[in-house]
Amino acid sequence: MHSEFELIARYFTPDIPGPEAGVTLGVGDDCTLLAPTPGRRLAVSVDTSVAGVHFPEDAPAEAVGHRALAVSLSDLAAMGARSRWCLMALTLAEADDAWLAAFSRGFRELCDVTGTALVGGDVTRGATTIGVTVMGEVDPGMALTRGGARDGDLIAVTGALGGGAGGLALWQRGERDPAHPLLARYLRPWPRLVAGEALLGLASAAIDISDGLLADLGHVLECSGVGAELDPDALPLAEGLVEALGDEPARRAALGGGDDYELLLTLPAECLDLARRRLAALDLPLTVIGRITGSRGIAGVEEGAEGGWQHFRARPGKGRAP
Ligand SMILES: [Mg+2]
Repeated sequence: MHSEFELIARYFTPDIPGPEAGVTLGVGDDCTLLAPTPGRRLAVSVDTSVAGVHFPEDAPAEAVGHRALAVSLSDLAAMGARSRWCLMALTLAEADDAWLAAFSRGFRELCDVTGTALVGGDVTRGATTIGVTVMGEVDPGMALTRGGARDGDLIAVTGALGGGAGGLALWQRGERDPAHPLLARYLRPWPRLVAGEALLGLASAAIDISDGLLADLGHVLECSGVGAELDPDALPLAEGLVEALGDEPARRAALGGGDDYELLLTLPAECLDLARRRLAALDLPLTVIGRITGSRGIAGVEEGAEGGWQHFRARPGKGRAP
C-alpha cells in the first residue's frame, strides 16, 4: 500500500485550494484554516458510506466517490446552505490505483460542480468506508429546519421519487447500464443545493429524502409538532419506475424507499407559485403531495401487517395511528 501521504497527494490534492476558496492554510499542516464569510452561519454535517451497507461493494468507483459526497451535500441542501468545504476520511481494504483514480474523479467532479473545496482528509486501512464532512454557509435565521411546518401548509417534493430504491433493485437484479435512468438516480444522486437556496424565505420546513418519504416526513412532523394528510396518487414517480417494478411496488418505493435525495418541504399555499417558478428555472418540478394538519400522524396511507406500507389510496378518516 502507498503511504498515506502519497495517496492524498496523488489523488485528492492536485489543486490545493487557496484564499479564493476561503482557505487560509491548506492541506499539509495539522489543521486547515478556513475563513468563513463574515456574518454568515456555518452549516456542518457528516455522513458515512460503508461498502456493502450503503452502496454495493461492486459499485463503479466513480459513482462511489460521487455518491459519498452527494449524500453529505444533500444535508446542506436541506438547510438551504451554500456548500463551501469538505473533509474526507477514507478507509480502504486495499489501495487499487484504478479504483482510486475513478473514485477521486467522481468525488472531485462533484466538488467542482458544487463549488466545494476539499480541504483535508485522512486515509487508513480497513473495511471500505468513506466519511465526508461538509461545511456550508447560510444567513443567520434563514436556514430551513425540520421544525417550522404549520397547520395548513402544503407538503411538496422536488423532482421524482422512488429512483433510489428502484435503482438499487435493478442493480441487485444485475442491470449494469449506467445510462439507465433508475441506475443513474441510485448511483449518482444530485444534491439539490441550488433548489435549497432558492427555497429560502418560502419553505417553512425542509428535509432531504434519505430514509424514505414517510420516514423523513415523520421527522418533520415530529420536530414541528404537527400531522399530515398525504395524497399517495399525487406522488411524482421516477422515470422508468413503474415499468421496472410494477405499479404497486413503484408506489411503495416512492413512499418508503430511501436514497432519493430530493427535498421534502412544507410551505404556505401563497408561496407555492413563486417556489414553483424559482425551481422551474432550475428545470426542477415541485409537486404538492399533501397538507399539514393539526392532528398527529399521517393520514392517507396505512401501515400494513408486515410493517410495509400496503394501502395507497387516500381513505378519508382512516389515517396512520399517531
Ligand atoms: Mg438529511
